[in-house]
Amino acid sequence: MLHDLPSVVTDELQRVHDELVQVNEGGLADYIPPLSEVDPTLFGLAICTPDGGFAAAGDHDVAFTLQSISKCFTLALALVDHGLEGVLDRVGVEPSGESYNAVSLEEGTGRPDNPMINAGAIVTCSLVEASSSAERFDRVLGMLSSCAGRELDVDENVFEQELATADRNRALAYFMRSAGSLTTDVDETLEVYLRQCAVLVTAGDLAVMAATLAGGGRNPLTNEQVFSSTVARHVLTIMATCGMYDASGQWLLRVGSPAKSGVSGGIITASPAQFGLGLYRPLLDDRGNSVRAVRACEQLAERFTWHALAQPDDRQLPAVLDEAAD
Ligand code: GLU
Repeated sequence: MLHDLPSVVTDELQRVHDELVQVNEGGLADYIPPLSEVDPTLFGLAICTPDGGFAAAGDHDVAFTLQSISKCFTLALALVDHGLEGVLDRVGVEPSGESYNAVSLEEGTGRPDNPMINAGAIVTCSLVEASSSAERFDRVLGMLSSCAGRELDVDENVFEQELATADRNRALAYFMRSAGSLTTDVDETLEVYLRQCAVLVTAGDLAVMAATLAGGGRNPLTNEQVFSSTVARHVLTIMATCGMYDASGQWLLRVGSPAKSGVSGGIITASPAQFGLGLYRPLLDDRGNSVRAVRACEQLAERFTWHALAQPDDRQLPAVLDEAAD
């Protein structure tokens, strides 16, 4: 079960929310109507601690599609099924420095650069053990639901429209099949990948999913140990270097916690043993990251000094929570 975090955290989320309400920069993703026609004023934030403390502000219970954030959890499933070396045989872990849908494969091996770009995520989908693609997607949805602590659904309209406009992803998949890095059927694997992108979540769900990573694979809402702490560490590491498209370096410098964003405007970020944060704001910058959500994380990171490389004594969140508990 979740419990309320102290008002000092709730108030801070609300303050950041209210302060950023005037920031209206950015544009909606426009490659399919369900994304280009979304209400651009939506803005939600939620935080969840690994022991189940929860606080939220704004539109934290409005549903939107996971898009690229799903890549973290399919990676977790591939790691569960194959271990780190098994996954590394098929996909790299280096930031590509190129856009998320770039056609760049490692010379010699044909491996995509990392699991956070589309090519790498299509390969991690193919690595999920299953005897059919329906079973493969059921396992992906099961993993996403276990991390959210509730049964998630697919937005079939978004899925259909993704499928109808997937020429580039299909080309990537064929390219990888010809290079030998994708060994499953192109159309079936693409459907699994696009269906996971179309899974509906709220910012509140994202906070719980991020807190599952922060808690070493244990969901704070259900207490289920969804995957091992080693898998959580590997996923967080790859999020830290590759999760924010080609702004990952800037993000690590200014916010300092592993993160993943998606083209619908969602962001998750997590810090081991400290917190998971989920945000939603559909207006994106030119790298595909939500402008307001990035600003919110910068402000919260500064307020709570949660940077992964900060000195432990400088971290404010544990102190704030301890103080409130006294
Ligand atoms: N469905 C999108 C694609 O694969 C997801 C992109 C994203 O969120 O970065 O093109």
